[in-house]
Amino acid sequence: MTREPTPLMQQYREIKSQHPGAILFFRMGDFYEMFYDDAELAARVLGLTLTSRNNGGAAEVPLAGVPVKAGHEYLRRLVQQGYRVAVCEQVEDPRLAKGVVRREVIETVTPGAAFSDDLLESDRHNYMCALLELGGVIGIAAADVSIGTFRLIVCDQGDVDDVIARLSPREIIVPRALLHNGTGERLRTANALVTEREPWEFDPVLARDELVRRFRVAGLDGLGISSQHDAALGAAGALLRYLSDLQPSGMPHLMRPSVESTGHTMPLDEMTRRNLELTESLRGGAELPNGRSDRERSGTLLGVLDRTLTPMGARKLREWILAPLLDRAEIDARLDAVGALKEHADVQLALAEALDGVRDVERLAAKAAAGRATPRDLGGLRDSLARLPNVEAVLRDVEPAGMLSTIVTRWDACSEIVDLLSRHLVDRPPLAIGSGNDEGATIRGGVDRELDELRALRDGGRDAIAQIQAAERSRTGIASLKVGYNKVFGYFIEVTNANKHLIPADYQRRQTLTGAERYVTPALKEYEERVLTATERIEERERELFEKLRRATGDEIMRLQAVAVQVATLDVLLAFAVVASREGYVRPEMTDEFALNIVAGRHPVVERMMSRETFIPNDVSLTADARMIILTGPNMAGKSTILRQVGLIVLLAQIGSFVPATRATIGIVDRLFTRVGASDNLVRGQSTFMVEMAETSAILHTATSRSLVLLDEIGRGTSTYDGVSIAWAVSEHVHDKIGCKTIFATHYHELTQLADELGALRNYNVAVREVGDEVLFLHRLQPGPADRSYGIEVGRLAGLPDAVIRRARAVLRSFEGDDLVRRLSSSPSEGPAQLSLFGPSTHPVIDRLKDVRTEEMTPLAALQLLDELAGQARS
Ligand code: ADP
Repeated sequence: MTREPTPLMQQYREIKSQHPGAILFFRMGDFYEMFYDDAELAARVLGLTLTSRNNGGAAEVPLAGVPVKAGHEYLRRLVQQGYRVAVCEQVEDPRLAKGVVRREVIETVTPGAAFSDDLLESDRHNYMCALLELGGVIGIAAADVSIGTFRLIVCDQGDVDDVIARLSPREIIVPRALLHNGTGERLRTANALVTEREPWEFDPVLARDELVRRFRVAGLDGLGISSQHDAALGAAGALLRYLSDLQPSGMPHLMRPSVESTGHTMPLDEMTRRNLELTESLRGGAELPNGRSDRERSGTLLGVLDRTLTPMGARKLREWILAPLLDRAEIDARLDAVGALKEHADVQLALAEALDGVRDVERLAAKAAAGRATPRDLGGLRDSLARLPNVEAVLRDVEPAGMLSTIVTRWDACSEIVDLLSRHLVDRPPLAIGSGNDEGATIRGGVDRELDELRALRDGGRDAIAQIQAAERSRTGIASLKVGYNKVFGYFIEVTNANKHLIPADYQRRQTLTGAERYVTPALKEYEERVLTATERIEERERELFEKLRRATGDEIMRLQAVAVQVATLDVLLAFAVVASREGYVRPEMTDEFALNIVAGRHPVVERMMSRETFIPNDVSLTADARMIILTGPNMAGKSTILRQVGLIVLLAQIGSFVPATRATIGIVDRLFTRVGASDNLVRGQSTFMVEMAETSAILHTATSRSLVLLDEIGRGTSTYDGVSIAWAVSEHVHDKIGCKTIFATHYHELTQLADELGALRNYNVAVREVGDEVLFLHRLQPGPADRSYGIEVGRLAGLPDAVIRRARAVLRSFEGDDLVRRLSSSPSEGPAQLSLFGPSTHPVIDRLKDVRTEEMTPLAALQLLDELAGQARS
């Protein structure tokens, strides 16, 4: 006979059914229990022991539990591995409950909605994104609840990947149907937890009402949101609904949404971000189990630039690197500011000193608003804010150039908030309220009369207890008698066994130790009662006062977030100035013209890996009538380095940084494309060559004449004939049809002949010098094609056995008489008639073909012609 499940399990099932996508932490006394699949998953992921519980019926229920005390740690591990955890607490006192204790889910923690420091990385945003496709465009709503940012973005289908990559969200919300089409598939690989929600939640009309209500505005126009943002609006609605489901007790605070058009900054596709090693190095590093990688920042542009001093600055820097600007005035505003700061080493020092020690104001403020800040958090906020006047003082001494003037104008030292916090909080507030002793105090004395009185009462009791020791010593004559305290027995009098016989009759024994006995007396108990009651009430009162303070601070979140943005911006500009001073960068001259001109440019990362003198600077110039460079030279000569260096210099300039060169004029580019080397996309299950072609194709489809295209070794992944042909055709297309600034590094010498055909193409090579059998890499860029590829010399340098090298030389010599292009493009008069692959054709078959009018031919005539031509070709 199967019996009904127990009432407890019924309750469990009910709650679980409302949180199907989450692991349910079901509070039972001192444990969070997990049942069924959750238990099995947790046992696997967390290494817990799986047990079972009898459910009152025949079935045993799998069960795994974690102690409440360690609950957060287990939760953190689950969330970091991409799981959602719903925390279900007992919401009534079990002693008072009739029947099963009432339980409720008080919050659901997910990777995208995390607040606690150990779930967040200080130097990057923690975005949750919602996506909606509507009317042919994609709307994206992005929120970082840990700081309250809320952004709406509308973009074309083709740009989604770039936008998502830039935000790198931890979690993405999509309407249920979306996952069945291609976008959904791609999202699954974006390293984010993908959460499906019901399609109706993405309704823009519902969202409109919700936003109006939540941000207390009359209409959305004031927020810059119009009907063209409907897709983003619908996404925002779903995002807000999801967030409030996760936090039933009250949604975290979000700032008013900022609307962004993607035209404002330069989209950077994944290959460009990777190839230029902007924030992650290509040279590996293990993937963490949560999908984040711990790739070294050294070896990246971020690593070179990151001299920021605050977590807000670090996040902003990463954001800027991934979103170069397109507008000259905006870029110049940053450059002006960097210039002003770079002038004065003393200002740099003073600002650094003032900013150092400013903690994560953005996240602390958001925590206060969400009711999660600890006393120590508010203390940290106060101490950080208290440094702001110093920052401002230094700033006022600098010429308010460009963006600095905006920062100064918008500066708000938040002095009232500092006052409020300083007045209430002790100098070093504890992690939690009521650690039970004086050091644990949160609220200062003199703030609240009631609190002061309670403390006096408690201290009076303690004094009285201290006096009891003296009184009892003289009453009993036991000099070694002492009064002590422990958590279990409270206050006690301790007497050694030797003196046991001397104790008075009113002593009551409480505890026996090896060498002593512990007693209490009625008087001792009375004072203890007073002390403990007072302590309890002190804690309660402190909690009340702290709550009030936290709310008052949380209410100021808009101000706090606004100043945090200014601090972050200043921090990045300062970092740019410091890097410029230390590394010898110059201010680039930004223009809306086409030309790009770099004098003595250096690779910002590579030059740091060697001594400055060892790095060879190079000039690169791309103008309308010399806009394409074919770059040849042996392996290891430095082709890739130059290619990337040009890309990085342009990117640096467009994020507002100075650049590693002695002079640079930068015609602002609308997009930057970099395809370097054969990347290891094999994990995606595509062949390298296929990936290479797909990436090349994406560039050819997207680049405009204002783009900068950097290609390295197109066509390498296939046979030489194929490869040269593709590279040749790609070059022609880029040169003729797109007309953008291009550098094409290749080991196909054949391509250098393109210069004869394409007017705006120039050959360059990276110089090497042969000394005897040796090759000396000069790393110097010079006009003209490389004479050959020196692969064998490089092989020798790499340690190939001498015998192999000798044999290779011999084989090469036999090939050299048979040069591919020379053979292919040789004219008929020089030898047997050959089809020229690249040069103009003079073959009679071709001439005849040119005159053919296929549309006027019958199938039979066509067949006859084909037969004739075939015969002619064979003869
Ligand atoms: P390629 O692409 O021609 O095979 P790389 O650009 O990868 O060559 O450069 C090979 C190595 O040469 C780099 O790792 C670097 O150490 C060195 N190198 C490249 N360019 C320079 C330079 N301008 N000055 C000094 N060393 C350089």
